[in-house]
Order: sequence, then structure tokens, then C-alpha cells
Amino acid sequence: MEKHRKSYDVVVVGGGLAGLAAAAYLSFNGKKVALLERGKLGGRAVTLPIKGFNFNFGAHAIYGRDTSILKNFENELKLQIQWKDFNPYKARYDSGEELSHVPSNVRGLFKTKILSSPGKVVFAWEVFKTMLNIDSGTPHESIGKWLEKQNIGEDVKKMMLTLASSNFFTSEPEEIPSEVFFQYYKRIFTTNKPVAYIGGGWQSLIEEFVRVIKDNDGEIFEKSKVQQIVTSENKVNEIICGDEVYEAEEFVFCIPPKELLKVFKETEVESIVSHYAKYKSSKVFVYDIGLSKRVESPFTYIYDRKNMMFITDISYYDETCTPEGGQLLQAVAYLKEEDIGNSEALEKYKQQIEALYDKHFEGWRENLTVPRISKNAVVQEIKWNMHQQAMPIYLPDYRNTFFAGDWCQGQGQLSELSFSSAYEVCKLILNK
Ligand SMILES: Cc1cc2nc3c(=O)[nH]c(=O)nc-3n(C[C@H](O)[C@H](O)[C@H](O)COP(=O)(O)OP(=O)(O)OC[C@H]3O[C@@H](n4cnc5c(N)ncnc54)[C@H](O)[C@@H]3O)c2cc1C
Repeated sequence: MEKHRKSYDVVVVGGGLAGLAAAAYLSFNGKKVALLERGKLGGRAVTLPIKGFNFNFGAHAIYGRDTSILKNFENELKLQIQWKDFNPYKARYDSGEELSHVPSNVRGLFKTKILSSPGKVVFAWEVFKTMLNIDSGTPHESIGKWLEKQNIGEDVKKMMLTLASSNFFTSEPEEIPSEVFFQYYKRIFTTNKPVAYIGGGWQSLIEEFVRVIKDNDGEIFEKSKVQQIVTSENKVNEIICGDEVYEAEEFVFCIPPKELLKVFKETEVESIVSHYAKYKSSKVFVYDIGLSKRVESPFTYIYDRKNMMFITDISYYDETCTPEGGQLLQAVAYLKEEDIGNSEALEKYKQQIEALYDKHFEGWRENLTVPRISKNAVVQEIKWNMHQQAMPIYLPDYRNTFFAGDWCQGQGQLSELSFSSAYEVCKLILNK
């Protein structure tokens, strides 16, 4: 059968946050853009309705929104985002016996019980050094190794690892490269908005990107799985997707390395990508609950330090995510590598989360309408550690081929990596 040919300035493959952000930015800046997504737009950041509750299946919070790359997209594309800022006075660390303030700002730092008084001063000094660039980690050294060499008390070390664990969504915080850790904390300690949620869920952000793409004559093709890529002379020439052939000047691939390997099969790019396609992801156990009636609790965020899991009352920030009077709580536990796929170990995570709900949201069981569990959710496609290499955003010699996503080199962690790699790729294309 004859194929239909379509021609664009830029074809973006993958309609997750990276692909949506890139397609929106490029079309806003005058490029004729097509966005191809194999399923539904949003990727791992979709919000899906179940029995009147809107569950964020992936991303739920933005860290340091005022100093983030998402902020650049928001300002430049004039995205309408209803920010719901985190209330630090309703957040606690649960250390088993006692609850303490989360040191997400200076007041929290001086109120927290998890640091001794001298520890607080040392911690504040560490923060101060980070902000002044006096210490920015050592390249090729993990934060665990860096901390071992420092002359600081155990409580401060533990505090820094707790922050790393809760912000990087990992059960192995000591494995994070030290320069990545310091770069991130420099940003977080200078922010006025440490954590924020989005009114209407992440779906509303997805819809904003779609609005910008459509307003600027970009075309979106859902249920369009890219099957094959045709390359020649160090260039991608066209993309084959069912009966359609997409030609373009530039191509931006916002699909994970494991998918890239399949679509670049039998091209020279396959061997380059295969180098990046062997990696481990950061995975979590998610256990969200939709309740018919709110249960009383003074807190909206609890982080269990021992078990490395947290609960957020999403409905406190975004009242649109439940039927009237309801409550939506999200619990996330960071999975240890050895527990992934082990049903006995996973059952233990479930029980520990239920115990945490029992402790802080008593009465949830009687009001439970929807439990939603995901035992193997990928929070970051390539986990930050010293032994893994994130993909570059372009390849040597392939001048019209770019990559973006939370598996790419970039700034920050989680969706911030998707946004920062997408932003850099757009700048490269627009500056050509
Ligand atoms: C439980 C959970 C909690 C999280 N919490 C947070 C948080 O609080 N804060 C935060 O910032 N981040 C969070 N994240 C991470 C965030 O969701 C991801 O970093 C982000 O959504 C990744 O977007 P992406 O575009 O890089 O990748 P993806 O979302 O994986 O997008 C890739 C897209 O490509 C499509 N695709 C793949 N192959 C093809 C093909 N052959 N043809 C066409 N399309 C294809 C896929 O369908 C998908 O839509 C969380 C994630 C999870 C799972």
C-alpha cells in the first residue's frame, strides 16, 4: 500500500512531558511541528479519573518551582498553571518515636528535633557554603564518599542523606554524584517555593502544552507508534509510523533508550544508543487512596525516615481531585533494588504504608473508596548513581537528531530533567 508523506520543520517523537514541552516551545517559536505519541499524551505524568477521583499516576510535585526550568516554559509560553504551594508547617518527619519539623526552610531547620543544636549550626553552614559555591562536591565522587571524608557529626550526615533520599526519590541516596547533589541543593536552598502542587493535577499542565501546540498550528498524532527510522549520511531522513511517513529538517526523540534501540534498529545509531540502553531505573511502590470523607489530621505530608516512604494529602492542595468532601492521599515508597519483583518484599511495603496511614490518617479504612497500587513505577528512567551514564542530548555528527527525557543529561532530577533536556534541545534547534 502506498504511504502518505508529510513534511515538517521538526518531528518530535514521544508525548510525555519532554516531548510536549519541546513541541510546544518549537511551535511557539515558529517551527512547523508534528508530535507523535504511541498512546495517550502525558507519558508517566498522566492524571486518570477513577470513581470521581483524579489520580496523578506519576509526577505530583515540583521542587523549587521558582528556580526551575519549568518556570522558563511557564514564562515564555505563558502557560496558565495554578500553583498550590506546599505548607511546611503541616509537614513532619516521622522518626518512629517522634515527629519533627521538615527543614525545608530556615524556620523548619531551627525547629527540627532531628538535629542537635550544634548540628543545626553545622547544617546551616553546609547550606551556606553550597549557596556561595564554596563547596560544590567533587566530580566523580558520590555524596556518600564525600560525606565520609567530612568532619561533620553523624546527625548532620544523616540529615543530608534524608534530604537526598526524599528529594531524589531513591533508597540509595549515598550513590548520588556529589556535584549533582550540591547543584540541586544550591537551587533548593535559594528557592522561595520548595515544593508545589498543580491545581487540576498534572493533566492541566499537559493540556496547557497541548493548547500552545495547537494555537501555533502544531499537529499532534496520538496512537501513532514510531516503528522505524530511516537514516543516511549522518542524518535522520524520515520516520515510518504505520501508513504514514514523516519527513523533517530536525528530529527530537523523547522516548527512553530502550525504545530508541528498537526504532533505530539496523541503523548506525543503534550501536551508539545501545551503550546508553543498559541502565537501572529509580522505582517506587505507589499506594494512593481515595476516601469518601476527609479524615482529620494536622499534617499534609509525612516522611517515614526509617522505611523511606511518604504520604501527601494531595486533596488538601488540589480540592478538584476528589468528589465533594472526599480526600485523596498519595503514598510513595522508594524500592530497594533487591525488592523489585519480589512479591513477599512488596507485600511488606504495602503493610508498612498501611501502618503509616493508620498512624497519621486514622479512619481511612472505613472511608476507603478507591485503592490504587502500582508496585513498579518508574520515577526516573535512569537512576542517579556513580555507575550509570545519562544520554547526551545530541550525538556527534548527527546534526539533526536530538534527545530529551529524564534519561538525558540535564539539570535537576525527575521531571526537571525532562524539562531541562527539552529546553536545551529547543535552544540548539532554534539557534541553528
Ligand atoms: C509514581 C511517580 C511519581 C513521580 N513523582 C514526581 C514528582 O513528584 N515530581 C517530579 O518532578 N517528577 C515525578 N515523577 C517523574 C515524572 O513523572 C517523569 O520524570 C516524567 O513524567 C518523564 O517524562 P518524559 O517525557 O521524560 O518521559 P515519559 O513520560 O516516559 O514519556 C515518553 C513517551 O514516549 C512514548 N513512546 C515510547 N515509545 C514510543 C514510540 N515508539 N512511538 C511513539 N511514542 C512512544 C510513551 O508512550 C511516553 O508517552 C514521578 C513519576 C512516577 C512514576
